[in-house]
Amino acid sequence: MIFVDTHCHLNSEQLYKDYDNVKKDAEKEGVKLFIVPGFDLESSKIALKLAHEYENVYAAIGFHPTEIKHYSDLEYKWLEDNIKDDKVVALGEIGFDLHWDTTTLEEQMESFLRQIRIAKEVNKPLIIHSRDALNLTYQALKDNDCHLLGGVMHSFSGSIEMAKEFIKLNFYIGLGGPVTFTNAKDPKIVAENVDINYLITETDSPYLAPHPLRGKMNSPKNIPLIASEIAKLRGIDINDLKTIVLDNTKRLFRIKSDV
Ligand SMILES: [Zn+2]
Repeated sequence: MIFVDTHCHLNSEQLYKDYDNVKKDAEKEGVKLFIVPGFDLESSKIALKLAHEYENVYAAIGFHPTEIKHYSDLEYKWLEDNIKDDKVVALGEIGFDLHWDTTTLEEQMESFLRQIRIAKEVNKPLIIHSRDALNLTYQALKDNDCHLLGGVMHSFSGSIEMAKEFIKLNFYIGLGGPVTFTNAKDPKIVAENVDINYLITETDSPYLAPHPLRGKMNSPKNIPLIASEIAKLRGIDINDLKTIVLDNTKRLFRIKSDV
């Protein structure tokens, strides 16, 4: 049974320069299914290229809320055209980020609405980024019937109560490095108690390296550190967790092939 990394930026500057080895190193650790989300036009193009190059790499394409400032019809048209690609399994990462102030909330909302319209045309799920904006994100997903698409709350850092609300909206919970941090509270409670049929694993590499590598550059090969911590917190066998996470991932992203 394989490990899954549902959110790794092989398309980031740090990992892309050595992506073939980064992927091979992960495979040596048993990580054999990768989803690479775009965060701007360039990284979405690279995600798509990698997905076409490797059978077990899938792409998501989309514009992160901090990256949309100068985007116009041209960039959104590219999304509309390429979201139809068979190896593009989701639109993302999109959402809200009130931590940085490169874009206003109004701009973020406009881009979000525009991108979910694109996802709705092809009925593909959403990869949601939400920083310092969890209630707002919840409301936007709810107001726009996003339960019809489903998706994942990537790098979820909210409470178990909020996790349950997102699950009711048909959104999965993506857990990564923070569940392993020694001082983590909510992520451990969520890992232990969330409906296991809505739980998926991710590294968010090159960011958020798990304990004991915290602060270093993260890579998909670190998924076993994250998955073992989740299995330990839940008191289940790691192989059972692997089976469930793979099933969840294939269901959420409508992946049909045997991996
Ligand atoms: Zn990301």
